[in-house]
Amino acid sequence: MIDQELLDIVGKLQIARFEVIYEVGSYGVNLPPYKGSTIRGAFGHIFKMVACTCGSEDHLDNCIYQYIFETKPPENSEVLKKYESIPRPFVIEPILDPRTYFAPGEKLHFAFILFGKALDYLPYFIFTFQEMGKQGLGKNHHSLNLRQVFQTNLHHDLNTLIYDGEAGRIYNRWEPIYANEIFQSVENQYINNRLWVHFLTPTRLQKGGKYLSTAPQFEDVMKATMRRLTSILYFHQDLQFEMDFKKFFLHASKVELIKDQIEWVDWERYSNRQQERIKLGGILGKALYRGEIEPYLPWLKLAEWIHIGKNPVFGLGKIKVASH
Ligand SMILES: [Zn+2]
Repeated sequence: MIDQELLDIVGKLQIARFEVIYEVGSYGVNLPPYKGSTIRGAFGHIFKMVACTCGSEDHLDNCIYQYIFETKPPENSEVLKKYESIPRPFVIEPILDPRTYFAPGEKLHFAFILFGKALDYLPYFIFTFQEMGKQGLGKNHHSLNLRQVFQTNLHHDLNTLIYDGEAGRIYNRWEPIYANEIFQSVENQYINNRLWVHFLTPTRLQKGGKYLSTAPQFEDVMKATMRRLTSILYFHQDLQFEMDFKKFFLHASKVELIKDQIEWVDWERYSNRQQERIKLGGILGKALYRGEIEPYLPWLKLAEWIHIGKNPVFGLGKIKVASH
């Protein structure tokens, strides 16, 4: 179990997941099989136009674009030694529909998740998504109409209407989900000393300077989870916590990997900034672990929301834990 003191700190992390619903415009829309990079690319470009009013590449301290996309470390430079990198305070979860053409009138859903202080900027996200639809996505930039934005609940069901495109209104009635609620949502049915971890989008876990191309050991999954969690807490919610990580990972190393259906998938994205194709492969599939898993379940449940590994802003590293 997690001790109460730790729960009290980490449990304060605020998270909210929103689902965006577009209606495809009269020309249809062409998108690549994996849509995360296209959406993230267009979104970043438009967010900058909307939210950066600095007039130069030297952003002012209060620039919202800078906070969301280029979060700066606090004055104390020591912290960067402790944290591997500064995570973005959001994740875009693309639809996992491999189709590359969507007909006029079809609905296109995807989600985004905000952490900590980024929640204050929700209206900027909604406005940017609306603009992104108008300016168009994919090849030929065909337009999409932003119809609705919902907040989803703990089980990812569409819950609260936040934006109504027809009325042109943003409703200020959403509430963050606290990590504490996610910890409490852990269901006992998973606990039988066996647990499947599903890697739903390409997951890029590093070990010894290389990306893992086969099923990760349980310990590697936990290391990636805690690395991501501690840095999100520190940079986006001003929270730090102490725990005996050595012991925590030592115990995790005793959980065995007993079966897997994992494959490496190569996925490329085109970088406008670097004017080249960048390889962003990762592992996909599922792995079965056996051992004393219960103490790790709350953390893994949280990992479902924050994603793990490299490049989560594109939707990579989405995991799910399950009994099968
Ligand atoms: Zn700026």
